Amino acid sequence: MERHNHDHCLDLIDRLNDYLDGELSAVSCAELEEHLRQCPECQELLASLQQTVDLLHHLDDLPPPLPPALENRLISQMQQQVQTKRH
Ligand SMILES: [Zn+2]
Repeated sequence: MERHNHDHCLDLIDRLNDYLDGELSAVSCAELEEHLRQCPECQELLASLQQTVDLLHHLDDLPPPLPPALENRLISQMQQQVQTKRH
């Protein structure tokens, strides 16, 4: 069984928010989606980030950007989750 590369996950987590905002380049998007297909952990992380973003967007007619403090907290939480699973 091929060893899962969590370094790649950590790299992608940084990009997830840009991905959700549609700010990621097409190449980075493709890379991220390719990894997501193979990585249930990142799928979970993306789903929870997506939920948070959706929630914020529903609070107002105009989607506000994710507050940087919240974004940083989410991202560090995700990175901790990934690192905790590393053996
Ligand atoms: Zn991953």
